[in-house]
Order: sequence, then C-alpha cells, then structure tokens
Amino acid sequence: MAVYLKMPQSPSLCSEVCVPETDSVTVFQCENCRTILGDSNNLICICESLALVTMQAIQPSAVMIHEAWEKCNSSNVSLTGSSYQNVSCTRCQTEVGKVFKNLPPHLSKMSGHISLDVHKISSYEVQQPAPKKNYDEILFKMQQEFFKMQQEISKVQVVLMNLNERFVPIEDALALEAGGTD
Ligand SMILES: [Zn+2]
Repeated sequence: MAVYLKMPQSPSLCSEVCVPETDSVTVFQCENCRTILGDSNNLICICESLALVTMQAIQPSAVMIHEAWEKCNSSNVSLTGSSYQNVSCTRCQTEVGKVFKNLPPHLSKMSGHISLDVHKISSYEVQQPAPKKNYDEILFKMQQEFFKMQQEISKVQVVLMNLNERFVPIEDALALEAGGTD
C-alpha cells in the first residue's frame, strides 16, 4: 500500500487527525486505474481506525456517488446507526470510498463528504507550487530602489555643484593671472 498514512494495528474508536501543514501536497489517486481523485489541500480529516481520508472537494468527474443509502454494519461500534453511499471511480468502477450520514458527534466532520478508503487509493507527494509572486510588491520594491538611486544621484549632484562652486573662483583667478601676464 503506497499511502503515506500510518494505520493502527487494530480497529478502535475513530480519532480524527488534523492534517499538519507541510510544504508538500499529497495527491490521492485510484489505486486500480491511477485516476487522480483529489489532493491533501482539500483534506478535512483522516480517520485512522476506519482507514478513511475525508475530502472537502474531489475531482467531480473522477468519482460517482451511488444513489442508494446503505446501513453501516455493526463491525465498527462508532458507525452504528450511520448510513453511507458508495463512491466509485468513474473510470474503472472500483469502489474507492463512501459518503456517510448520521455519524456520531466525534465523526461529524466526515458527514456528507466523500471519504476515500485508504486501501483503495494510492498517493504520492508533490512539492507545493511556489506562491504566486505579488507583482504589486515587486513594483513597490522597484520603486523604492529607484528612489534610493535618485537620492544617491542627487547626493553626487550636490558634491559636483560644491566642487564647481570651489573651482569657478580658482579658474577665474587663474584666468585673471593668465590675462595679467599677457
Ligand atoms: Zn479507478
């Protein structure tokens, strides 16, 4: 199983695990036909004991939600009284998950959303795309650099003007001297 999720050895009551923020995104795909179903950006929670990954959104064309509601069997105590619809991969018809309703309060996050069965999917990690560059920010920085350059140039201009002011009398004096010797 190529899913990057740790599964408990024996089933227990569900514990919801919040997904840590990482630089990478986990892409989930149908294990059978490799159709991409969704990624961890849309993850609501992971239920380890049920081996389910609940998604906020999923590629709409990638899966088919069956109309019929079925009662959850009593093998897992936490699902007693809950119902589900099967969710199949559109391409290969493999059942890849379920949509639950009437879940107990501690699992209510999963209600109404597609929960993928980790045994029916595979996953791989990709690096999060670099955040879009904020061009306003870049423009602002360029303007700041430009103003800095302008300031530097004005400083140089002041120095040149000062030098000019000093040289002009000297030049005049030299001219006078030169004129005097003619
Ligand atoms: Zn498939």
